[in-house]
Amino acid sequence: MPDLIIRGGTVVAPNGILEADIAIEGEHIVAVGPGLSGAAKQVDATGLTVFPGLIDVHVHFNEPGRTDWEGARTGSSALAAGGGTMFIDMPLNSTPCTVDAASFDAKRMALEKSSITDFALWGGIVPGNLPALAEMAARGAMGFKAFLCDSGLPEFPQADDDTLHDGMREAARLHLPVLVHAENEDTTKSIAQRLLQAGQTDIRAFLASRPIAAEAEAITRAGRMAAETGCRLHIVHISSGSGVASALEARAAGAAISLETCPHYLFFTREDMLRIGAAAKCAPPLRSAHERDALRKAIHNGDLDIVGSDHSPCAPPLKDSTSFFEIWGGIAGIQSTLPVLLTLGVSPERIAALTASNPAARFRIPRKGSLATGCHADLSLIDLNTMTELRPAALLQKHRLSPYAGYEFRGSVRATFRRGELICSDGRITSETPGKFVRPEKGS
Ligand SMILES: [Zn+2]
Repeated sequence: MPDLIIRGGTVVAPNGILEADIAIEGEHIVAVGPGLSGAAKQVDATGLTVFPGLIDVHVHFNEPGRTDWEGARTGSSALAAGGGTMFIDMPLNSTPCTVDAASFDAKRMALEKSSITDFALWGGIVPGNLPALAEMAARGAMGFKAFLCDSGLPEFPQADDDTLHDGMREAARLHLPVLVHAENEDTTKSIAQRLLQAGQTDIRAFLASRPIAAEAEAITRAGRMAAETGCRLHIVHISSGSGVASALEARAAGAAISLETCPHYLFFTREDMLRIGAAAKCAPPLRSAHERDALRKAIHNGDLDIVGSDHSPCAPPLKDSTSFFEIWGGIAGIQSTLPVLLTLGVSPERIAALTASNPAARFRIPRKGSLATGCHADLSLIDLNTMTELRPAALLQKHRLSPYAGYEFRGSVRATFRRGELICSDGRITSETPGKFVRPEKGS
């Protein structure tokens, strides 16, 4: 006998869209189909679309250590309000960064106390921490992130080619993926130095210092190493059509590569960045309308595999400086992924792939990512027939700074269920039990 039936919704199921009920017993889906019976508790989903719970593979919740920037309580609340049921936290900007067994344990413990959604952790690859990768893998790391440019944090140094190569070989041995922030440091640094010496510190100078060529080159280099080492490679936050093309070339040459972009690269252009300013600063930066449109095309045709928010807030004073180079780079958009994709006209099936089933398959997340019998009952109920202006007051993140404020978006998240429990209802957190730590399934 199921505990709960979600009745009469339009279900975005693995085999297509169907009008169906979903029966839930404990934490799991036990049936999907029309006219299900039983269950004391029923939720009427008539007129709503049922999506698999969004898995945000790219967030920076900064806990422990920098919870004045964001924390897992506020960050995961915002995620749940946006239809999310699980996140994977980046190894920075917590203190300490997640680069060894002790920091991994400390973060897991902190997040088990504070997270509302389920979560997993990325470890980091930095010069000198090669022996720690196996320790983090044993503890359940999803994979390892490396920066091919300056990360902005001295305690998380850039991976030189040697470090990256060794890290990929070790990750391949551990059957785990490597994630890279792909921008060529030599290029970005030398242009930035020249501009700063000439006294140019504004938004245009910042944009000029991070050309698309720097992204494309770093993707190509990482792709070659991945093909050679046999490591699964994931390119985070691809910002340009050229970046997509470089990654697809690497795949054609034998690299097991997956491609991620973020809602802000799909929604905004560099002209928007000139207008919005600090709230829209990120690296790689926002690009031209031509590049944005190439990314939109890659979303629709399936070249891009995953959309992650790269939610990366900071304390408000760090967004304020006379030099745009000094302002903290990071967009806080965790609650807006589904609204952005819906507003851009991406189909529900494609959205489910980009935000749930592809992340689960790519990173071997067990029992998540699809509305199928046997999976966790992670799901959201969305009203696709509303248009709502994003107001900062509706954001559950720690600091309500968002480049999306004032824009109108299609769709509103009415309810989010995590392992069968209603954790968010109309933007209000209702969860009574904490999120759980998730390890990847063993690979071979
Ligand atoms: Zn990031």
